Amino acid sequence: MGDGGSDTGEDPMLDSLICVAGSSIKKSGFIASHSTDERERRVIFVNAGGEELRRQGHSEIEVEADRFFQGGDVLRTDEEVADGGDLPSIYQSARYGNFCYEFRDLPPGDYSVDLHFAEIVYTNGPRGMRVFNVFIQDEKAVSELDVYSIVGANRALQVMNIPVSAGKDGVVSVNFQGVVGSPTVSGICIKQGAPELQLVSSGRDGKSLLCDNCFAPVKLTAAENKAARMSFTAKYEREIRELKAQCQMKQDECYEAWMSLTAANQELEKVRAELDVKFFQNFTLGQAMEKETEKMAKISSKYEHDRRLWVAAIDELERKMKAIKSEHSQLSFEAHQCANSIPGLNQMVTAVQSLVGQYDDLKMKFNEEQERRKKLYNQLLESKGNIRVFCRCRPLNMEEASSRPQTVVEFTDAKDGDLGVLMNGSNKKIYKFDRVYTPKDDQCDVFEDASPVATSVLDGYNVCIFAYGQTGTGKTFTMEGTEQNRGVNYRTLELLFKIAEDRKKTISYDISVSVLEVYNEQVRDLLASSPPAKRLEIKQVSEGVNHVPGVVDMKVENVDEVWNILQTGSNARAVGSNNVNGHSSRSHCMICTVVRAKNLVTGECTRSKLWLVDLAGSERLAKTDVQGERLKEAQSINKSLSALGDVISALATKSSHIPYRNSKLTHLLQDSLGGDSKTLMFVQISPSEHDLGETVSSLNFATRVRGVELGPAKKQSDTTEIQKLKLMLCQLKCKDDTIRKLEENVQALEGKTKSKEQFSKSQQDKIIDLENQVELKAELCGHLEKRLSQVYEKMQRKEEACYSFQQKVISFIILATFQRS
Ligand code: ADP
Ligand code: MG
Repeated sequence: MGDGGSDTGEDPMLDSLICVAGSSIKKSGFIASHSTDERERRVIFVNAGGEELRRQGHSEIEVEADRFFQGGDVLRTDEEVADGGDLPSIYQSARYGNFCYEFRDLPPGDYSVDLHFAEIVYTNGPRGMRVFNVFIQDEKAVSELDVYSIVGANRALQVMNIPVSAGKDGVVSVNFQGVVGSPTVSGICIKQGAPELQLVSSGRDGKSLLCDNCFAPVKLTAAENKAARMSFTAKYEREIRELKAQCQMKQDECYEAWMSLTAANQELEKVRAELDVKFFQNFTLGQAMEKETEKMAKISSKYEHDRRLWVAAIDELERKMKAIKSEHSQLSFEAHQCANSIPGLNQMVTAVQSLVGQYDDLKMKFNEEQERRKKLYNQLLESKGNIRVFCRCRPLNMEEASSRPQTVVEFTDAKDGDLGVLMNGSNKKIYKFDRVYTPKDDQCDVFEDASPVATSVLDGYNVCIFAYGQTGTGKTFTMEGTEQNRGVNYRTLELLFKIAEDRKKTISYDISVSVLEVYNEQVRDLLASSPPAKRLEIKQVSEGVNHVPGVVDMKVENVDEVWNILQTGSNARAVGSNNVNGHSSRSHCMICTVVRAKNLVTGECTRSKLWLVDLAGSERLAKTDVQGERLKEAQSINKSLSALGDVISALATKSSHIPYRNSKLTHLLQDSLGGDSKTLMFVQISPSEHDLGETVSSLNFATRVRGVELGPAKKQSDTTEIQKLKLMLCQLKCKDDTIRKLEENVQALEGKTKSKEQFSKSQQDKIIDLENQVELKAELCGHLEKRLSQVYEKMQRKEEACYSFQQKVISFIILATFQRS
């Protein structure tokens, strides 16, 4: 454990030094004295950390087992202890650590203490130096004993004759608590009596006056004392100087070492900081690399995905292109075939063109014929005067149809204007009219014939169209119609606006409408918002022009406005009546359309009137069998209808007196009945045998109105002319149809060829488009590949950088470790 070399150091001053007078150090174990005195002086001898020992010999030695101690630990060895003396075994055990020995019940007086040590090693001090410091307490004071000695491992050492004294309490304590060094105490021997001070030879210079091992003064003469002290002082002063120099040197060395250590530490710190930075850089680089790697993985997977998509898309495109090419060739083949399958297409086209030419000629001829027909028709009308009578028979109603009634009308020659009426079963009477409409004829058919008369108001004619007949035979249906199936009123006004629009470049028209009702010989304004202050009266404004002052005259611009007015009038008719239908059939509804025309070329102005009249029911009084108010109503109706019949009859027979003023109805219609005005009467009849009487009555009235019973010859010529016209029309229609069909055929063929050509063209375009797309996509693929290789390169570069950085970090670490060591 100790440094064997140092215990034989040159300088005995360093070797052993004890500072208590009388005491001494001995580098060997206990040697028993032969003197009995010595033996008798031993009060107590303790084997520290060991057993009781007894040695018989020239002097008996008794060593007690370890007692009197407090604290510390025991250390034992079987190794032989060098210079163990007479009792080497006491040095094989020791007490060490923090401990003290206390010896009690000692008789008061002076004592000497021998301490036996072995293996006392001070590990915290400078190398090779063993130190211990013992406190020995007696009654006076604490003796402090410093021992510096180098002995070596398993070597005995004695500090002898330490003077102590026991007081009245008889206690001597040897305290190793808190001592510097690690004393391992093998034995303590307390002897009676204070140690003796002896003059000893120094053994070196022969002049020493001190104890061999301490500075305790030796009793000398004054002169001896002085000489000895001087030599001693000089010696130690020299030694002190040497020591100081050595100390300074060591200090300098220490300082230098410290400085270099500080520098090395600083360098180390720097390296450490650098290392930290590098570590951080490495860490971030690693992270970046991880990210980059991730990114790369993503990019490459995306690239792979894209590449697959592109490959698939290109495959698909190629497939499509192949399909389109084959389709294209198929189409061109078909187009070829198609062209081949039409032999003489050009010839056909020429034929068609010539046919078109023929068609145009025929059309022109047809138009000419139509014009001629119109003229003839007008001439025919003129020849018959200005009164036309159309007979219209309604269909059987639901009730009649369910009760299976006998129909009394026959329409075999209805096209010729003949209406057969079965009187009393077998007796059939033929009535002749300008038109006969069967129940199957619709509103269009009726209006087609009525429209020339109605629209002549635009040419400056006064016109009167009225419907006459028994209640329920369709007067209102013919005139008003329904919203889905409009009648003459609406259609006429609609047509007026259409013609006016067509003619607007040459003629400007102002059209206004008023709606009146004649009930019980009183005129009522159906457009007036409030009842008039006084009764409406008919006034003659000028020659042939009647007017009702105060009547609302609504200017209309379009057919919607007309419809609103007609609706307003129709609704107003119902006001004040409990039974709408009943009231309407007992009053005359009269729509008066005034047309003011200005010829923009000639400047000529005209004012004409069109009356559209839905008359009251013509059923006879006897049948209605009524009294009171109803009787008055019936009489008024009867009067007005008779007056109408009389007026028209007088006009037809070109009578000199026309009794217009016999009723309000005829008075109102005065300027539109007779003269240049045109009159059209619809006689409405029922097919049912129940209404036969009224039917016959109405037909008779109508016949009377028509004025002239046409004789067979006139009828003939009329029929021939009409038949001729009809035949021509039929022929024209036939030709027209043929041409149209031919035209349609050619057009269909042309269309087919065109569409095929277009299809083929569009397919070609598509192919070009697809080819372009393929090219584009291939280019894109190239770009992508290029980019991918760039990314690969970048990644490789990053990997290299990372690797080199790692190398750098490793070399730094090595350098740092090296510097630290
Ligand atoms: P009126 O006005 O003469 O009293 P309406 O016009 O009111 O008679 O007609 C009576 C019924 O017969 C109505 O329901 C009407 O729709 C129907 N009607 C009249 N004529 C025809 C016809 N030609 N076609 C179909 N229904 C008709
Ligand atoms: Mg009616």
